[in-house]
Amino acid sequence: MMNIDIEQLETAFARVIEGIKKQDMTAHLKNRWTRATEKARDRLIEKPYFAWQSERLLIVSVPSDATSEIGCRFYEANEQACRRVDKSGLCQAFYEGIPCWHRAAYLLLKIYLGRDGCRRQSKTN
Ligand SMILES: [Zn+2]
Repeated sequence: MMNIDIEQLETAFARVIEGIKKQDMTAHLKNRWTRATEKARDRLIEKPYFAWQSERLLIVSVPSDATSEIGCRFYEANEQACRRVDKSGLCQAFYEGIPCWHRAAYLLLKIYLGRDGCRRQSKTN
């Protein structure tokens, strides 16, 4: 498991939020992307169960104690799409055209890891 540098993640978070503001999309969609990015940041701090592969992110969604859901969900997200890998098919939110936190996590980690991602990763291990 990779340790997340919270300060560095907050810096990446601020940059993603800035990027969302500049996007040519409706205010409603901007709000949804902002919320998805906030959730991604919180999840990456609390439950950083993922594998980064530069072109795609494999991330585990751990159900919260409040839900009766059993088992984790596994997602594969990138710039274009988000799909489930523990069963065939797309991420439900992505399928419905709703910004999901998995893709937000991809964008967040892309900035967080940056060009010297490998170096930072080995430093924290
Ligand atoms: Zn998704």
